[in-house]
Amino acid sequence: MPKSTRKDASVSRRAFLRKGATAGVGATALAGLGGRTQEAEAQNFWDMSADLVTIGAGTAGLAAAVSALDHGASVIMVEENTDIGGHGLCSGGNVHLGGGTSNQKKHGVEDSADQVFIDWIRHDHMQSRYSDRDLVRAFADENAATYEFLIENGVKFQDHLVGPTQASRVRRQQRTIQWPVASERVTHHPTRVGSGLVRALEKSARAQGAEVLLRHKMTSIVRESPSSGRVLGITATHDGRTVNIRANKGVLVATGGSTSNVTLRRTFDPRLTEEYQVAGEPWSRQSGDGELAAMAVGASLWGTANQTCEQGIAISKTRHIGCQWGYSSLIWQTDSRIFDLARASGLTVIDWQDLILVNQTGRRFWNEVDARYDFFAAAMAWSGDENKLNGGGPIWAIFDQDAVEREEWDPRPPNVDPDYFFQADTLAELAAAIKNPYQTLSMSGATLEETVARYNSFVDLGEDEDFDKPTPRYKIERPPFYAAWSTPILHDSLTGLRTNTKAQVIDMRGQVIPGLYCAGESQGGFAQHGLGRCLVFGRIAGRDAAVNGGIA
Ligand SMILES: Cc1cc2nc3c(=O)[nH]c(=O)nc-3n(C[C@H](O)[C@H](O)[C@H](O)COP(=O)(O)OP(=O)(O)OC[C@H]3O[C@@H](n4cnc5c(N)ncnc54)[C@H](O)[C@@H]3O)c2cc1C
Repeated sequence: MPKSTRKDASVSRRAFLRKGATAGVGATALAGLGGRTQEAEAQNFWDMSADLVTIGAGTAGLAAAVSALDHGASVIMVEENTDIGGHGLCSGGNVHLGGGTSNQKKHGVEDSADQVFIDWIRHDHMQSRYSDRDLVRAFADENAATYEFLIENGVKFQDHLVGPTQASRVRRQQRTIQWPVASERVTHHPTRVGSGLVRALEKSARAQGAEVLLRHKMTSIVRESPSSGRVLGITATHDGRTVNIRANKGVLVATGGSTSNVTLRRTFDPRLTEEYQVAGEPWSRQSGDGELAAMAVGASLWGTANQTCEQGIAISKTRHIGCQWGYSSLIWQTDSRIFDLARASGLTVIDWQDLILVNQTGRRFWNEVDARYDFFAAAMAWSGDENKLNGGGPIWAIFDQDAVEREEWDPRPPNVDPDYFFQADTLAELAAAIKNPYQTLSMSGATLEETVARYNSFVDLGEDEDFDKPTPRYKIERPPFYAAWSTPILHDSLTGLRTNTKAQVIDMRGQVIPGLYCAGESQGGFAQHGLGRCLVFGRIAGRDAAVNGGIA
């Protein structure tokens, strides 16, 4: 059973400090030692070591860990959260893998690696148009084997096959079965079955000797010198203490992408300012930490056009309104162990005819029943705030008591969050009541009254003269009136670090950074949504680190 090694972290840290280093220097100082790495090693810098260190114990990190262990390597997983799983744990568990899997054969679907490749380099589909075709080739060749790898490691699937979805032209989507242990799920909703994927991989990894360090936040990647030499390990913090972890064969960046990092996500789309929340939060962050730490040691980004390919659900309409995180398929119910963080479940919208959507000035901006990227562009258009030119500001659903009754909503906590939901007897009072951390302007009562009066006239007319909402159906006229947070929510990171087909990270000069890998949503070059590509490249990275040790 492969084993990581560990010594008393506090002792080794003290030893390092005793030998002349300044407190707080950590990894940067080690990088600054340049060719004197041996000296630093002799100074007992490292607190623990393993062959592979994964930064993140989510979907890609777990696949890499199991794969590395299968090939005889020892593994330490460094995870900032209180539990493993990342977005994978609250995901819908729809796994997009084909190429001739046993499940496809069982369901009579003909497929091959070549067909996966052809589908995912399509020029006529926006999710494949900007793909790095070398990465797609590797993805295609490893598709079927990755599915069988999941089965071998205890992942159970429902007996079906769905599709074609995304750029695929044959059925490739299967769904996991929910993990049976309720205390090991973060949501019990019957559609959140991704727990069955990540828990099975965790079980397999732990059984093979992986060490999982929870509440350990990676703060930097340690390289021999800032822009050359091998990646040696990482620095993390845990309970205010620094922990230096040596990676003998490789460090894997698997921190889940960058959508939770406002500065980094705006590198790819400047509109994505702070008001846009992220699906999967407040459970886990797509922190961008892995990308930034890798870039600090010379890594390059790749395939950034994918982030704005305007296909799929990278930006998504909220479906549960009046709460901070209302991503369509994820309801934070009161029985979730993180409900104290989520604070409200939201009011689930059945019919978008029941409300209008206004920006922070109180004006409608688009047809409410639409959910295409034109809708998001309008929601993110300048709202008129001279002090906030980027981002569209909050979007509010405005409706009346009749809508509440038609939708059968109970507009009280815990269904709604008092910071994200407001109610008043008049529209003017409602506008004045809207106070929210992201509302940068005071909404004018007169503007909201005018907006609603105009919309009500469209209901009489049977036609939306402003935005072409198909046959506006209901007037907003019976108090009380309500305003519920409905700001679009971010979902996928579709760009990230440049890697080669072995998932080795590439630097700004096109050279492999020895000892550094990346997989999952932190990896750039491929705009497929979700679990499939994270699992494939995680598995590739773990195997390559174990077998080739991060050598170019
Ligand atoms: C609600 C929801 C539903 C989804 N449904 C599906 C679906 O049905 N099908 C599908 O294909 N995809 C789905 N997805 C997407 C899928 O879950 C993700 O694409 C996938 O989990 C990403 O894997 P990852 O390893 O890159 O990131 P994650 O699984 O998010 O793992 C990243 C991990 O890194 C950790 N981390 C971040 N920063 C640090 C740091 N500094 N130090 C240490 N650890 C750190 C995080 O805490 C996290 O645990 C869904 C996502 C969500 C949110």
